[in-house]
Amino acid sequence: MPIPIQHTFTYAVSEEEANFLQKGMRVAVSFGKSKMYTGLVLNIHTNAPTLYEAKEIHQILDEKPLVTARQLEHWQWISNYYMCALGEVYRASLPSAFLLESETVIFKNDAFLDSAVLTDDEFLVFEALQQQSQLTIHQVVSILGKKKVMPIVNGLIKKSAIVIKEEIYEQYKPKLIKYIRLHKNYTSDDSLGNLLAELSNAKKQREAVLGFFQLLTTKKPIKAKDLEERTGVSATILKSLVTKDIFEFYHIQTDRVQFKGETNDLKVLNEFQEQALADIKETFKEKEVTLLHGITSSGKTEVYTKLIQEVLDQGKQVLFLLPEIALTTQIIVRLQFYFGEQISVFHSKYSINERVEVWNNVLENKPKARIILGARSAVFLPFSNLGLIVVDEEHETSYKQFDPAPRYNARDAAIVLAKIHGAKILLGSATPSLETYFNAQQNKYGFVELNRRHGNVQLPKIELINVKEKFKKKEMKGHFSDRLLALIQEALDLKEQVILFQNRRGYSPVVECKTCGVSPECPNCDVTLTFHKFKNELRCHYCNYQRAMPNSCGACGSNTLDTKGFGTEQIELELKALFPYFKIGRMDLDTTRGKHGYQKIIGAFEAKEIDVLVGTQMLSKGLDFENVSLVGILNADTMLNFPDFRAHERGYDMMVQVSGRAGRSKKQGHVAIQTYNPFHQILQQVATTNYTEMYKEQLQDRWQYKYPPYYRLIKITLKHKDYIKVDSGVNWLFKALYSSFGEHVLGPTAPVVSRIRNQYIKNIVIKIPPKQSLANTKRQITKIKNTFDAVADFRPIRFIIDVDAY
Ligand code: ADP
Ligand code: ZN
Ligand code: ZN
Repeated sequence: MPIPIQHTFTYAVSEEEANFLQKGMRVAVSFGKSKMYTGLVLNIHTNAPTLYEAKEIHQILDEKPLVTARQLEHWQWISNYYMCALGEVYRASLPSAFLLESETVIFKNDAFLDSAVLTDDEFLVFEALQQQSQLTIHQVVSILGKKKVMPIVNGLIKKSAIVIKEEIYEQYKPKLIKYIRLHKNYTSDDSLGNLLAELSNAKKQREAVLGFFQLLTTKKPIKAKDLEERTGVSATILKSLVTKDIFEFYHIQTDRVQFKGETNDLKVLNEFQEQALADIKETFKEKEVTLLHGITSSGKTEVYTKLIQEVLDQGKQVLFLLPEIALTTQIIVRLQFYFGEQISVFHSKYSINERVEVWNNVLENKPKARIILGARSAVFLPFSNLGLIVVDEEHETSYKQFDPAPRYNARDAAIVLAKIHGAKILLGSATPSLETYFNAQQNKYGFVELNRRHGNVQLPKIELINVKEKFKKKEMKGHFSDRLLALIQEALDLKEQVILFQNRRGYSPVVECKTCGVSPECPNCDVTLTFHKFKNELRCHYCNYQRAMPNSCGACGSNTLDTKGFGTEQIELELKALFPYFKIGRMDLDTTRGKHGYQKIIGAFEAKEIDVLVGTQMLSKGLDFENVSLVGILNADTMLNFPDFRAHERGYDMMVQVSGRAGRSKKQGHVAIQTYNPFHQILQQVATTNYTEMYKEQLQDRWQYKYPPYYRLIKITLKHKDYIKVDSGVNWLFKALYSSFGEHVLGPTAPVVSRIRNQYIKNIVIKIPPKQSLANTKRQITKIKNTFDAVADFRPIRFIIDVDAY
């Protein structure tokens, strides 16, 4: 059952049904008094349950298994390892259209007109939806006067007559990029001669044609804009060539899915990439997992594509995992360029129907689902024949699901998935996680390095700017040092682009009264409200509470409200004042909502419609912009002063990754980091891109303070709106855990934000030493949790277990 209960349940079927049913098929069943759910068949047996009487199933929903045996094995591992119910993994895995239940809400699809294709029952439901804008499955039961309605609703979904409730997706007309190619009259080489002769009197047009042939050697589709820039000819000239039937324009949607163009040959690897590829293949002879540690812009993606091609040639499927945020058109277009329609994208921002389609295509091993490009939930797809998994940016913390259960790490779940399929798995990063690098050093994983940027472009020059001194010498303008401003000016003068990184959105994170010192706080959370100037609002970044920015202090009434600290909005505004003739863009959570949010901004930056892009860490995720020569980090210190044992590692990763966006194609890039503490060891390591030194030093700390990769962590979080309750619960729990695990139990502590959405939060962390059995530890924790849940007073407390917590 798709519910958070540890047990499975037995239902009664007839002999005929038993013969038909297979593991992995769905059945509609009732549960409790009147609920209806979509259950999944795990086993078919003849042992009647002893504690309850088996109910009959309503209906069988599938003709073939929807879930494979390998998936079930994988789910079982996730459920055991991450200490959650199998039902929770089931619910997380299937697109919700597969999981109809009594509470599911359906709507009519306005685009559906052909009601003639509906059966009588389907038509009744469809008709009811003309009167009533939405119905629950429960209501469908009473409309049709029968219990067995799931297949009817499924039929309506399949025929696209109805849709089920989901987030409403933004309607966005994707941006079309204009490309140019030769008219079909002129494809062969000899006609080029004629063509040039024909144009002998039109100098500009000749230049355009010659420029076109030069660009053609790069084997990429040629953007009209690139051709204009390359040759200096105007759009009018290109247009006249189109009128003469020499060129033609065509458009490619920059957003996903249907790929219609032609594919191209893989790039020829450079010698270092060639070596890396050979090394990876060598390690795969012995190891299932290999880490590719390749600096930014070394061409890891090109190496992946070669491996992918080889696996496709063996007729196997490939899973390519990316952090959610990096799953932009850039990488989709890049892979489609080689693999065309063999790629399917699986993404939580896609609609339920799109996800159902991908599921079915993967299950049936369709040619268009040979390569799955997806964020973490793609590990749940019904692969039949997986040969390779690539986990790009394997260090990314967004691979770990935070809420709800299963709280899995997709990288680790992918390693297990690969094992189940006998597939190989390649983890790639310029800044591997300490855990992964450690495993590679221990020889558990294969290890391959790629230390050159493609084209031998040097890594960017990194410069630390001491803002403490700059303030003292009055060399700051707002939040910018004179040095950073000079570098920005220089880049803009050369028509290059700039990325500025500030890891905080809004205008300022704190508003404070200068008279009484009080700051407005969120009524629901223990945190100050962030000022958003564009909307003139105060907002809570934890619960989304918002209200208008007041004119005067709520505590003392003085109109002396001031802001403290700064976010992306403030930087954007300062820049607009400093560089009024340039276009400033901003990329953060506030500007990238909706399915196409990222694409719009990334597209505009790629098209050079934006000169300076200000943004949060979103900017650091694997983006490839050829014209960015300068990256500025406005305040490095906030990243490092975080009370978390991974703060230094993450600070290093973020800064190196964002630096890696500079100087990717031609000349060496420049990175300027503003800090109050330029002697901080992490900043020194960033400045020299010295991963190994960072690794060794952090590893030392992890050993000394008993953290991963040496010790494993299980974090328990309790939440309740009554502080006294959660406090007494956590104290009881701590004692119980302490008597089992002694000094390895830390806490109880309140997190930095100790109340969110009116829920008080307390944490306990259990450290598991290297030699202690993980299975036994988990068993003991489960036992203690069961006792906890048995105390009536504690039962309402939310009890969250997070294995390998971040
Ligand atoms: P990484 O993923 O390691 O940061 P990318 O794979 O994005 O690096 O490569 C950086 C840039 O260099 C990309 O624009 C890519 O197209 C180009 N590039 C890398 N390798 C080659 C190659 N062998 N031939 C041509 N271009 C390449
Ligand atoms: Zn005040
Ligand atoms: Zn709040």
